[in-house]
Amino acid sequence: MTIDDAIQLTVQYSRCPNCGCDTIGGGTGTLEIDTEIGCFKRTCQCGWSIEISTPNK
Ligand SMILES: [Zn+2]
Repeated sequence: MTIDDAIQLTVQYSRCPNCGCDTIGGGTGTLEIDTEIGCFKRTCQCGWSIEISTPNK
């Protein structure tokens, strides 16, 4: 996962598709990105979450 990939995913999942919440932090949602291991995780307070794993080739 490149930085560009991570940014693209961040934009794509900036808004929760379930409740429409687009805030992260303060107990509303979380965003975890680790380009080293190719892991992207976004969660929302409503219970929605997505985890994408794209190991570097
Ligand atoms: Zn939500």
